Amino acid sequence: MTQKSIIIIGGGIAGLSAGCYGQMNGYKTQIFELHTLPGGLCTAWGRKGYTFDGCIHWLVGSGQSSGYRRIWDELGALAGCEVVNHDEFMRIQKADGKAFILYTNVDRLEQHLLDLAPADEKPIREFTDAVRLFSRFDPPVGKAKETSNFVDMFKTMPGMMPIMPAMMKWGKVSIADYAERFSDPFLRYAFGASFGNNLNRLPVLTLMMTLAWMHRQDAGYPVGGSLEFSRGIERRYLSLGGEIHYKSRVEKILVEAAPNGKGDRAVGIRLTDGSEHRADVIISAADGRATIFDMLEGRYADDTIRGYYEKLPIFSPIVMVSLGVGRDLSAEPHSVSYVLDKPVTIAGEARTLLPVKHYCYDPTMAPAGKSVVMVMVNSSHKYWKELAADSERYESEKQQAAITVIEQLDRRYPGLAGQVEVVDVATPLTFERYTGNWQGSIEGWMPTVDTGDLMWKGMSKSLPGLSNFYMVGQWVEPGGGLPPAATSGRNVIQILCKQDKRRFVASAAG
Ligand SMILES: Cc1cc2nc3c(=O)[nH]c(=O)nc-3n(C[C@H](O)[C@H](O)[C@H](O)COP(=O)(O)OP(=O)(O)OC[C@H]3O[C@@H](n4cnc5c(N)ncnc54)[C@H](O)[C@@H]3O)c2cc1C
Repeated sequence: MTQKSIIIIGGGIAGLSAGCYGQMNGYKTQIFELHTLPGGLCTAWGRKGYTFDGCIHWLVGSGQSSGYRRIWDELGALAGCEVVNHDEFMRIQKADGKAFILYTNVDRLEQHLLDLAPADEKPIREFTDAVRLFSRFDPPVGKAKETSNFVDMFKTMPGMMPIMPAMMKWGKVSIADYAERFSDPFLRYAFGASFGNNLNRLPVLTLMMTLAWMHRQDAGYPVGGSLEFSRGIERRYLSLGGEIHYKSRVEKILVEAAPNGKGDRAVGIRLTDGSEHRADVIISAADGRATIFDMLEGRYADDTIRGYYEKLPIFSPIVMVSLGVGRDLSAEPHSVSYVLDKPVTIAGEARTLLPVKHYCYDPTMAPAGKSVVMVMVNSSHKYWKELAADSERYESEKQQAAITVIEQLDRRYPGLAGQVEVVDVATPLTFERYTGNWQGSIEGWMPTVDTGDLMWKGMSKSLPGLSNFYMVGQWVEPGGGLPPAATSGRNVIQILCKQDKRRFVASAAG
């Protein structure tokens, strides 16, 4: 059999994953990536001895024996990597020191919440019982399907049926609505803000699942951070014989009429330098909107697809203020959202919570005795886009965001302002420029309780009327994140193997 060729657009985690599994299964793959680095959103950048990490806070599948771990091992993502499992996911702290702490151990969490608000025993226990139940759930590595979604998972894993009712139930209640069940005002406020105030329409199921994975020590942090993680997969891809072309921005997907007279088929790509490259199959692992409406000029978008792009909410873009500080903060909790007594304005919006994170648990991030501190808040793409019309105003707004953050941090960690050695501010335009993601979105579609069954049913990886073409990554896996991106790349190769009547094979990196 002649070896089929595949072109993959984008070298983020989904594109790298499709490349690795394509190579494992006898396809000849090439990745075209606009940036100079692998990983897409899963990246980091160095500044004067400090590393500022743009992605991984927790990695589902980091434990030793879970379905997702199998995928990370196949992709060589965690080879030789130490994983840190935090005792605390995060805490929300008031000015008087009172703290709501999301402990990763569910028994400790339950006791802490009961101490905080004894009168709320019923909703506390209902929440922690659900976390316990879900901690017994190991997401199966899906079979070849057009969509990788919960419905498929349950069909392929009958053993999962006992938790189905709880998943359905908590998939329909938002974090904000669950918070209303608490009578204690601080618990009510803090619970609602645990993923950030802008994410409180997410189903409470997402918070329960996150804590469940943390409880079973399967959602830790890989030391070395996001770029090392991506480089691990890039190494695996290259060792399997894959080819990756950096600084190669795809502007068009080339199509021709299909020989059977049924619609069109994808036959290649054109880069911005004008060069054309052909393959039997084209997979886009790049931004969904750019793929469908620019590279394919909107010719294969039906009403359903247009509806997604017109109506669905996306994970908000962010402003990320990263600081290199000449001070050891390792004795401080690693992730604290401070409740501000007076709101402060950052990027044109009044903020009542300041989420602060340090990376002292990863010695590769800062020189010995020093720390990386990061504050990440959601922010409007439009706001920064308008500012960018005048580069001075844009730069001065970035500077102002950093000044405000440093002032606030200095109140909590006295003397810190004088110890700041490096400042870096990334805006939604930074994320957009480096990854091509729509408005700099950090995770694609946001499935809230208001977006119906999107999370359950998933989205198709192919477009109507176009054969030999697939999409993978966060724009076809509602909810986004690294495990769905990797699974998406794996699934598309399973689909191709099925079509080509080959047995799909995958093995752990040696
Ligand atoms: C701040 C932040 C924190 C996060 N935290 C976590 C976390 O803790 N855990 C977790 O699981 N997930 C997290 N995520 C989400 C996760 O990073 C993403 O969902 C995931 O990396 C998406 O992968 P992807 O391959 O689908 O897309 P991308 O990473 O966007 O990859 C797309 C790739 O395509 C390339 N590309 C785009 N257009 C073109 C073109 N025209 N030609 C060539 N190449 C192109 C881009 O440069 C990019 O490399 C976080 C994201 C951010 C930003």
